[in-house]
Amino acid sequence: MYSKKLPKNIKPESLMMSYGYESKWSEGAVKCPIFQTSTFAFKTAEEGKAFFEVAYGIREKKPNENLGLIYSRLNNPDLEILENRLCLWDQAEDCAVFESGMSAIATVLLEYLKPGDLLVYSKPLYGGTDHFINHFLTKYGIHVMGIHADHTRDEIVQKIESSGLGDRLGIIYMETPANPTNALMDISMCRDIGHQFTSDGHSVQIAVDNTYMGPLWSHPLSHGADIVIYSATKYIGGHSDLIAGAVLGSNEVIQRIKGLRTFLGNMAGPWTGWLLMRSLETLKPRMEIQMKNAAKVADFLLNHEKVEKVFYLGFIPKESGQYAIYQKQYSSAGAMLSFDIAGGESPAFAVLNSLKLIQLAVSLGGTESLAEHPYSMTHADVPIDQKHAMGISDKMIRLSVGIEDADDIIWDLDQALSKI
Ligand SMILES: *Cc1c(COP(=O)(O)O)cnc(C)c1O
Repeated sequence: MYSKKLPKNIKPESLMMSYGYESKWSEGAVKCPIFQTSTFAFKTAEEGKAFFEVAYGIREKKPNENLGLIYSRLNNPDLEILENRLCLWDQAEDCAVFESGMSAIATVLLEYLKPGDLLVYSKPLYGGTDHFINHFLTKYGIHVMGIHADHTRDEIVQKIESSGLGDRLGIIYMETPANPTNALMDISMCRDIGHQFTSDGHSVQIAVDNTYMGPLWSHPLSHGADIVIYSATKYIGGHSDLIAGAVLGSNEVIQRIKGLRTFLGNMAGPWTGWLLMRSLETLKPRMEIQMKNAAKVADFLLNHEKVEKVFYLGFIPKESGQYAIYQKQYSSAGAMLSFDIAGGESPAFAVLNSLKLIQLAVSLGGTESLAEHPYSMTHADVPIDQKHAMGISDKMIRLSVGIEDADDIIWDLDQALSKI
């Protein structure tokens, strides 16, 4: 991994244009080119042998020895430089990028679980993750157990103990803030629970999908998570023009994750890597505008007579337990919100159908504002009683706030709400 010594305290946003790349590597090109190649020439046969010894774990890497470029399923400059830059936001030791958020998530779950193990996961989860856990992992004899944001530590411990599988607990997997309700899970509490079920030769991984907040204002590793996952399709890519994922953690974790990635072959391609590097240069300014816009939009919705409830992190009541988690884990309310329309599906659909500037589409975190109906779209797969338990009703609209002028977004919502 690249480790150029830099003066202390340089912020990630200052390094997104250059970190990990040197123009002398590529004919003086200021920007990292797209290394659209499947394979890399070795200088000598001895060098090729040495690279493979490290890549396949035949021997440990010597101090200061770099894993040379071999073949684009194992490594590629566009992916390695991107991975080095992604590490900076979360202060992670290493990172692995994938061709989608789902392949990042699936690789983590497959690497750290085996038949007979127990997976504990927070609800609600991203629909694809929920499906993979409940319809795929269970086919391979992995036991799964859902927990809620309002479960106390004792209740979670009790549930794990009464399952009789405490000694097989492999992963506690969380999505926080949760999509689409913004419910928060306490990461350090889950870390403690993980420790409680750790024994000699058996450890519990704490994994956090941080996609909904994005990499700027929350750093799960600093709260005790072992693994952070992103769908880079969302804020990181930020332009709704690519699909990608990332996993971050210690060198030890990422070595295992990259090992499985090599054999599943689900790494991102060089073109996607290059696009993501381009996106990272503007990550902070984009997210800051989105966050400021969201605060204005949330205020507008809160005061609108046809809106019953707004699910926005900036509105958590100060006396609630959720507020304490918010204060501890997040430094911003982000740009994702949901709101309930008085009535039900039909007025909610009328609003969605009347939007003129905001597009009716799933996905989130991009430059354009997007609205959708979680109950019948992203969360269609979740059983109805569970949707209601989590506060996802047919009255709810989810909004990903973009970088348009805030007044224009509000104008659009106002005219659409006036149709009902
Ligand atoms: C979109 C999303 C995913 C899946 O990512 P893809 O890039 O679409 O595969 C996972 N988790 C969350 C929270 C998401 O929003």
